[in-house]
Parts: sequence; structure tokens; C-alpha cells
Amino acid sequence: MICVLTGGTGGAKFVDGLRQVTPPEEITLIVNTGDDLLWWGLYVSPDIDSITYVLSGMLSRERGWGVKGDTFLCLQAMGQLGEPTWFHTGDRDLAVHLLRSRLLAEGKTLSEATSTICDKLGVKARILPMSNSRVETRVDTPSGELSFEEYFVQRWYQDPVNSVRFAGASDAEPAPGVIEAILTADAVLLAPSNPITSIGPILAVPGIREALTGARGKVAAISPIIGSAPVAGPAGILMNAQGLPCSISGVAKAYEDFLDILICDTRDAVTAESLRRGSLQVHCTQTIMRTADDKAALARTVLAVAISGLSSDNTNADESAQGGSRPSAASAIIERP
Ligand code: GDP
Repeated sequence: MICVLTGGTGGAKFVDGLRQVTPPEEITLIVNTGDDLLWWGLYVSPDIDSITYVLSGMLSRERGWGVKGDTFLCLQAMGQLGEPTWFHTGDRDLAVHLLRSRLLAEGKTLSEATSTICDKLGVKARILPMSNSRVETRVDTPSGELSFEEYFVQRWYQDPVNSVRFAGASDAEPAPGVIEAILTADAVLLAPSNPITSIGPILAVPGIREALTGARGKVAAISPIIGSAPVAGPAGILMNAQGLPCSISGVAKAYEDFLDILICDTRDAVTAESLRRGSLQVHCTQTIMRTADDKAALARTVLAVAISGLSSDNTNADESAQGGSRPSAASAIIERP
């Protein structure tokens, strides 16, 4: 069994690779819900949606979010009615938000609603929200405190950031199955997701960090940072705001109390060497995921290192030859950053 902690973009790309090399029945995903929002009165869970869509083959890989081939007629109509339109939801995407909102209104938990939607969409992997309690990522900026989606999508992460907090986390409980999945997995993988606003909220739920420390399998994280920058998005700004350097050292520091293995890019081979002390293993490989083959290759390498104990103190020179320039943010028909 493999357990993956994930957000919705870098995380979804990695999960896309994992599903190519592991039977879905053997994967449990613990997904960030700190970005969840009420939009037009509907409960939207952007990271759960992206992970559900990637596992059901519905994800728009061009945009990196939402349903492929979706239309945006409702968005247009809501704009005509004077409603806000900064958070883009496609028409088929809306069907999922409608169903989830109805299930929640009937008294179902987010776990139950997620499981129902997964069954209907044919997802065989187990997707668990990190918690059924509301935990909200709040970004403190000079203009005031913003929700993560206001900061990221509405304002295109242009505001300077003072700090980040997870409102409600101290009273939250892990969703059913979360602790058990971490404790019993053959390997626990932290996807190359934003350490502060995707993995951070999951770690803020009481009990989850402790479970990672007591996990039976190795805990391995794939770095979303290469050199001194994230592959995309605001992870660097947010890491700095939380007192961490934007580098693989910063990623290692964020997870230092439970991390066994850090998977980083071949371009970080020099820094990797300096991190190889104590019990932390650092493995360098090609971590940019552009194609289906890149994704599968990374997933295969991570599993080999985390489960089969492939030597993790060498840079894989063959894979380093595949390195190239970084992808720009996904181009979008209707853009969400
Ligand atoms: P969010 O929920 O939309 O914030 O998505 P995630 O937290 O799952 O993913 C965002 C992170 O993915 C960013 O910090 C990126 O640096 C990282 N990322 C995106 N594409 C790649 C990639 O191809 N390789 C690696 N290593 N990281 C990536």
C-alpha cells in the first residue's frame, strides 16, 4: 500500500505518474482541503477535485485543473447576472460541486461525499480529505488576511506575504482512515506540492505529524523546488514568509521531524550532497514532469527508492541528461493560476 499526501497541481502530476505504475487499489491519497471555498453557494474542494479528475482520466492536463473539454457557459451566465467570476468553474466541474454540496447539505461528511463522487466516476484509488472539519488556509498580506483562493486565483499571488495560518486546525481531527493509512503504508510519499499551503495544512491537523513520525514505511518527499525557485507558483514566497529558504534545504527543513528520503532534481546535486548527513537520504533524479513518460519515470524511481531501497546517495546521471528548461505556467483557455 502506498499513501500519498498531496495538493492539486504538482501533486496531480505526480499522481498521474503513480497511477501508471501502481494498481489504483493500492493507493490512498490524503488531500489538502485548506483551499476549499464556498463559491456561488457551492462547496468546492479544488485539490480533491483535481486528484479525483486525474484518477478518473477527466483532468484537463492543459489547464492543470478542471475537466478536459469543459465548457464555461454557466460562468458566462453568472457574469451576466453580476456574480463574481474570478474563480473559474466549468460546466461539468459544476456538476461535481452541485452533487458534493447536496450530499453535505444532507448531512454527509466530506469523506462520504468524496467517496460517493469517486465511486460514480470510477476512481478505484482511495481519496481521503485530510479532515472532515473545516481548516482554512489564511494568507496575511499588507492588504489584510485573504483566503488561499483569494490570494492565489483572484489576486494572482501578487501581494507580499507576512505569514500563513491554518484557521480551525487545532480543533480539527484527521478524517477516518488518514492515520491508519499513514501508519500502515509500505511507503508514505509527499507529492511535489507546495510545502506551506498544500502539505502544510495536512501537517497542521493534530495527529498527522505524529503518525508520520511513527510510520512503518519510509516517508519520502519529492521537492517542488529546483535550485532556488519552485517549478511554478508561489511556494518560494510562502516558504520565505514562514522562515524557510526556497531550496531543497528548505523543503528538508519543513519536513525534518519525519522525513526519511528527499527526492530532488539532478540540478540540485551539489546541495543534495550537503544535505546527506544524519539519517536523511537524498536521491537526485529528473523531477520535471512534462509528459506521461516523465511522470511514470519519476513515480517508478520514487517507489524504487522508498520501497525497494534503491541506493539513494547517487545522482542518476542518465536521468540528468534529460533535464531542460522549466515549463511555464500551464496555458489556459480560461486561466486560473
Ligand atoms: P496547488 O494545490 O495548486 O497549490 O498544487 P500543489 O501544491 O500540488 O502543486 C504546486 C507545486 O507543484 C508548486 O510548488 C510547483 O513548484 C510544483 N510543481 C509543479 N509542476 C512540477 C513538476 O513538474 N515537478 C516538480 N518537481 N514540481 C512541480
